[in-house]
Amino acid sequence: MNNTAQLHQLNPHAIALCALGRWIASRHWVPATGGNFSIRSGEHSALVTASGKDKGELSPQDLLPVSWQDGSLTCTGTPSAETALHARLYQLDPQIKAVLHTHSVQATVFSRIISEDSYLFQGYEMQKAISGNTTHTAACPLALFDNTQHIPELADKLSQRWQQQPLHWGLLVRGHGLYVWGRSLDEAKRHLEGWEFLINCELERLKLTR
Ligand SMILES: [Zn+2]
Repeated sequence: MNNTAQLHQLNPHAIALCALGRWIASRHWVPATGGNFSIRSGEHSALVTASGKDKGELSPQDLLPVSWQDGSLTCTGTPSAETALHARLYQLDPQIKAVLHTHSVQATVFSRIISEDSYLFQGYEMQKAISGNTTHTAACPLALFDNTQHIPELADKLSQRWQQQPLHWGLLVRGHGLYVWGRSLDEAKRHLEGWEFLINCELERLKLTR
């Protein structure tokens, strides 16, 4: 085992992220090695899941160190293809400590039936799972972006949107999946479960009312 792997074995946040990966996989939100997760490890660095790994079978050495400075990314090994989006989120908000990206059926389908670039959730008690929401009567927006295989382009679109208004703890990539983040791993997990619940409810409601 090399020094990096030994360091990760001892990192309690890395161990917690692997356990969270098993919980997320048990909900079928990361099929076929899809999705990716990361935790911040410093002001300009994070640990990001390696490409092509089953997210239900992660061990700490599957989390690869990534750092960024002046717009360029430095990676060890082959981290997820979507690493640039994780790095951009950490750069946009220094408070972000964890980013989770999933490919659930409901988020993927919902993202394809909404053509707007933002969708307002309203009337759900579970909106309070998303930080900053204290009542079901407020509108809780979820941003949508078109999918692309060119992740730096998506990261730039995210930055442009963020400068107008910081996003609300999550975003959907159309036909692709959900990104959530938090100021801790626990908060990111709560945002993931909250957004998945809200998306599922709205998908069911739209099926009945369209
Ligand atoms: Zn993805």
